[in-house]
Amino acid sequence: MKKIGVLTSGGDAPGMNAALRAVVRAGLANGLEVVGIERGYAGLMNGWLRPMDAKSVSGIINHGGTILRTARSEEFKTDEGRARAFATMQREGIEGLVVIGGDGSFRGAVDFHRATGAAVVGVPATIDNDIPGTRYSIGFDTAINTAMDAIDKIRDTSASHDRVFVVEVMGRHNGFIALEVGLAAGAEGVIVPEVKQDLIALTRKLQAGQARGKMSSIIIVAEGAARGADIAATITQISGIETRLSVLGYIQRGGSPSARDRALATRFGHRAVELLLEGETNVMVGIEGGRIIHIPLEQASQGKSDLDTSLLTVVDTLSN
Ligand code: ADP
Repeated sequence: MKKIGVLTSGGDAPGMNAALRAVVRAGLANGLEVVGIERGYAGLMNGWLRPMDAKSVSGIINHGGTILRTARSEEFKTDEGRARAFATMQREGIEGLVVIGGDGSFRGAVDFHRATGAAVVGVPATIDNDIPGTRYSIGFDTAINTAMDAIDKIRDTSASHDRVFVVEVMGRHNGFIALEVGLAAGAEGVIVPEVKQDLIALTRKLQAGQARGKMSSIIIVAEGAARGADIAATITQISGIETRLSVLGYIQRGGSPSARDRALATRFGHRAVELLLEGETNVMVGIEGGRIIHIPLEQASQGKSDLDTSLLTVVDTLSN
């Protein structure tokens, strides 16, 4: 193998740049030519390429987002789109591809590999942490730290006014961010898509807390479970307690990646290049029990990552 390509695809996540740096530098260290592909699969189809030298990834390890940009492409889901993408690889002599992205990007990579035989290695990067086969994906740690900082600030104002705050966090399909940040910020309740919430019981708990002199209460809602505004309105309707809403939104996607995310991204990127050189293809790197592993991409793109819902009880017990 003489030349590899690297792209970032789908939703951006803090730490993608650190992964890119690792792929480029590991590739160069092994005597490979490395080419960056701009705007994900769209760039692969259209030949938006950028030769990468060691300097091209200087000073990016601490930056959120992705310098290669990212995109979503409907055309890549078609046979014609995949054929165009493969034609770019053949024309440019790109023999291996590192895809840094989430489960959607990996479904694309699996289809691409099946249709063309292209050698692909996936690097899991999504703040949602919902990729099966890896305990953590790049960006999750930064996102929960960002959300936790925001919730700590919200608790200050909540405590000053004896108000209940509902905080809506990201997580369209699962409650990984909501649950982890609920544990970290000492939330009074966490509402996730995986479990049906009894709002009457939750409200009674909040009322009991206020009666005991509890000064602040925070309820975390994953966006995929319910609208935070609806939860706040229902709590007020049941109890008359003054409730405020804060939707954290896109701030959870940005910011300088945490130490954990940078280190994870660096290890993932380095290993992805090793795997290509070892002739492994159609696999995703991951971390389990602190060790870097790899699993078939199919497994990573099709399975479901399960939330440990028993931890909801921990949140509940500790906030009484
Ligand atoms: P993420 O990787 O963050 O989950 P998306 O779900 O938006 O992001 O996927 C990114 C891109 O991957 C899509 O725009 C598309 O080009 C490609 N892709 C997603 N799903 C498929 C699929 N089932 N088949 C082929 N390509 C896909």
